[in-house]
Amino acid sequence: MKTIAIIGAGAAGLAAAVAAAEAARGAGALAEVRVTVYEASDRVGRSILATGNGRCNFSNAVIDAGRYRNASFVEEALGACEATFEGGASPGDDSLLPVDVRANAVLRFFAERGLVWREEGEGRLYPLANKATSVLDCLRAACTAAGVRELVESEVAAVEAPRGEGDRFTLRLVDRRLERADAVIVAVGGAVGERLLPAGVPFCATAPTLGPIATDPRWPRQLDNIRVRGALELWRGGRLVAREVGEVMFRKYGVSGIAAFNLSRLMEPGDQLAVDFVAAVPEEDAEAFLRARQTRLQGALRRSITWEDLMRGMVLAPVADVLLKACGLRGDAAVDEAGLARLSPVLKGLRLPVTGTGDVRQCQVHRGGVKVTAVDARTCEVRGVPGLYVVGEALDVDAPCGGYNLHWAWASGLLAGKSATARLREGR
Ligand SMILES: Cc1cc2nc3c(=O)[nH]c(=O)nc-3n(C[C@H](O)[C@H](O)[C@H](O)COP(=O)(O)OP(=O)(O)OC[C@H]3O[C@@H](n4cnc5c(N)ncnc54)[C@H](O)[C@@H]3O)c2cc1C
Repeated sequence: MKTIAIIGAGAAGLAAAVAAAEAARGAGALAEVRVTVYEASDRVGRSILATGNGRCNFSNAVIDAGRYRNASFVEEALGACEATFEGGASPGDDSLLPVDVRANAVLRFFAERGLVWREEGEGRLYPLANKATSVLDCLRAACTAAGVRELVESEVAAVEAPRGEGDRFTLRLVDRRLERADAVIVAVGGAVGERLLPAGVPFCATAPTLGPIATDPRWPRQLDNIRVRGALELWRGGRLVAREVGEVMFRKYGVSGIAAFNLSRLMEPGDQLAVDFVAAVPEEDAEAFLRARQTRLQGALRRSITWEDLMRGMVLAPVADVLLKACGLRGDAAVDEAGLARLSPVLKGLRLPVTGTGDVRQCQVHRGGVKVTAVDARTCEVRGVPGLYVVGEALDVDAPCGGYNLHWAWASGLLAGKSATARLREGR
């Protein structure tokens, strides 16, 4: 009997396990290929339960490969996944499904295994039950039905490649067990270390990203825990790198929230963040906007207007305090033309020099891992090590928030799982 060892029972590992075992079963060969998942922790799928604040934003209605790091590799792999899983069973026309479930192989995979979902802002897909367990339950039922063997508390320390013709992979477990396999799928997530992999697999160091941004703390410290709806911009040497509209949350060390998370993937030392507190007002209109406000308030209050008056109702008091201080204006002083010229650019872009990643424990992914140039995008198999596959976050692939990272984990897992079974069935 041939065996496929999957290291890691997170998103990519469980998708790979289902795909590998179902492919074996579909070919009437369950007894010929056995699929075993090795999971370091005491339960499978724990990492999935933590996603999306426990709700699991498991995919996106619009998957654009261009949003991923190493986009052309991802585009080819997602295309291969479509071709590999073309023409799966139709999920029917369930009216609870607001998006076209046939849009891609990942959505078809989940729909066929019973998952119902709904779409939130920006195409984010969540299970209808609004709990990550809903996604995990579908995966585990599919694993059980397909005969996947799950071994928990089984941390793999190293994978050794076959030494020659007829040899197999060796898995060295941390508890000194030795296991053998004919194909291995590495699905250990962002924690992947070079020492786990057979010698010579090209690798780049990993670092946490998609998290809060640390900045010069002078202004953020005063606004700790305040959230504003606005926009964040990343600037490099006078050039706008990216702009994200959304919630901005100030922390003692800098800025958090989805907009900051997304920009953290792009930041470099020396960059500056600009916080736009009135995202809907174009920059060139900002001064006129404030002047019109001054005129309106003068009419309503029947007196001359102070800076505090001008800010009230537009931003929270602590934010007003910071913005006025940043411009050297006193709240109780009367509004004047010179002050308006100073305030409008700060309201549209309070500058915060970037110093690095904020609280790394909040980072959602790791940058780095196995280099994509070492991997065949059509199968996720490592070139030069036949039978070794790397999937999910263990590869140097990451994307912004919105369901893209999990989508990649499922898609690469499905592709590698089915490819591994095909390889063994063909006797390669
Ligand atoms: C708090 C949080 C929220 C997130 N929310 C979202 C979201 O809503 N949507 C989204 O798209 N992405 C989200 N992400 C990112 C997403 O979770 C990951 O990109 C995705 O889980 C990666 O899948 P993976 O299978 O590669 O790795 P993981 O899901 O991390 O799975 C790796 C598994 O391997 C096991 N393992 C590790 N080393 C070994 C070893 N040596 N031997 C055996 N087992 C091992 C681990 O215990 C784990 O179970 C979130 C991430 C975090 C941290």
